[in-house]
Amino acid sequence: MSKEAYPLIFERSKTGRTGFSLPENDVADMDVANMFEDSYIRKEKAELPEVSELQLIRHYTGLSTRNHGVDTGFYPLGSCTMKYNPKLNEDVARLPGFSHIHPYQEESTVQGTLYWMYDLQESLAEITGMNTVTLQPAAGAQGEWTGLMMIRSFHENNGDMDRTKVIVPDSAHGTNPASATVAGFEAVTVKTNERGLVDIEDLKRLVDDRTAALMLTNPNTLGLFEEDIVEMAAIVHEAGGKLYYDGANLNAILGYTRPGDMGFDVVHLNLHKTFTGPHGGGGPGSGPVGVTAELEPYLPKPLLTKSGESYTFDYDRPRSIGRVKPYYGNVGINLRAYTYIRTMGAEGLKRVSEYAVLNANYMMRRLSDSFELPFTQHCKHEFVLSGKIQKKLGVRTLDMAKRLLDFGYHPPTIYFPTNVEEAMMIEPTETEAKETLDGFIETMEKIAEEVKKDPEIVQEAPYSTVVGRLDETTAARKPVLKYAHK
Ligand SMILES: *Cc1c(COP(=O)(O)O)cnc(C)c1O
Repeated sequence: MSKEAYPLIFERSKTGRTGFSLPENDVADMDVANMFEDSYIRKEKAELPEVSELQLIRHYTGLSTRNHGVDTGFYPLGSCTMKYNPKLNEDVARLPGFSHIHPYQEESTVQGTLYWMYDLQESLAEITGMNTVTLQPAAGAQGEWTGLMMIRSFHENNGDMDRTKVIVPDSAHGTNPASATVAGFEAVTVKTNERGLVDIEDLKRLVDDRTAALMLTNPNTLGLFEEDIVEMAAIVHEAGGKLYYDGANLNAILGYTRPGDMGFDVVHLNLHKTFTGPHGGGGPGSGPVGVTAELEPYLPKPLLTKSGESYTFDYDRPRSIGRVKPYYGNVGINLRAYTYIRTMGAEGLKRVSEYAVLNANYMMRRLSDSFELPFTQHCKHEFVLSGKIQKKLGVRTLDMAKRLLDFGYHPPTIYFPTNVEEAMMIEPTETEAKETLDGFIETMEKIAEEVKKDPEIVQEAPYSTVVGRLDETTAARKPVLKYAHK
């Protein structure tokens, strides 16, 4: 697509052109000057583009096609689970009986919505092996913070005031140490061993009577299953700590194993990842949290509960950490997740994991011919390659990621996890056809060939996008966020 085909809307503006027709204003002149403070009143006319409705539509539709989305192409962004978002979810979320209700309506008038929200809580409890689930938190990171605050209250309630450490692996998602810090803990790093798993000896050395919790993702951020999880749980529990499960990516274990069975006490889920909530534009998300019976009193209030045949919000929860979100979570995203779970059923969810793991292993084995594979055991839903071989030839992982754009692919997650040099973290998801996986593999092979024969092509990419190489540091430090036409 050429830049010229989509001139910016300010450049299309012609004085006096309008994109709307409204009836004459028949409201008596308002005394605006006395309604607002002087500093709020505009002194000059707003400089808005003057365009026709059609030009406006072309502007926004043009912008939308510049974006790469799951509906436009393969999106193997590791740890983000960019799977297909079934359109049936959208239909259900738009049913007026759900979409037209108001959060301040009487409970008795919204029993249908409370019914499915409660059923979703129960389903997620079953899927994770937890006792009780809240739908309040709006994102994974908020779920982490909620869970850690509960662990903190639990220890404090036991008079255990010195438990200030939360242990986090060096491969963990960045939100883990951040949430631990925001929740008032000190984040302590446990090392990863040469097989990409938590170093048990290092863990034993770190765990003591100051340990509040171990935060873990399993399979971990390298896409590898922590085989010693039961032993790790025992080490932490014996020292009086709790186990926190970062369940943002549940795609590899659905129906096969559960955090509760592994010994975890608190779990958060990202319904916008595993359970097909659309994401990628920054939200809205949903990060429900599940806990064991022991931690149930600390859940945020209100908690949606069932009494007899009706559903109600329970505010009478003296040990609760309090409210973490207005109303009761992102209802629309939760409804999409509920639709997905009910559509798939238990067997369907199991198959999700089977295909997610099969697809990842297929790609990993084939790509290991052209790229360094630091951990060689089978992976789960994702895997991490290193661009070491290519770096020796002068091409960085960033260059290869940019080159992928020219072939219509969203690049994988790069330079994460930080314990792998020149990391490329690839998560194909279960919803992709084999031909799509093959197409991506062949493109990666082609890029690896280019690196050998003509590295400059890769170093200068991309060529096909509206903007080429951006100065990413300056873009982050001094962002230009609005169009300046003068
Ligand atoms: C995405 C992700 C998170 C954070 O979730 P948000 O909804 O973006 O806050 C946490 N942990 C892992 C492993 C993730 O992949």
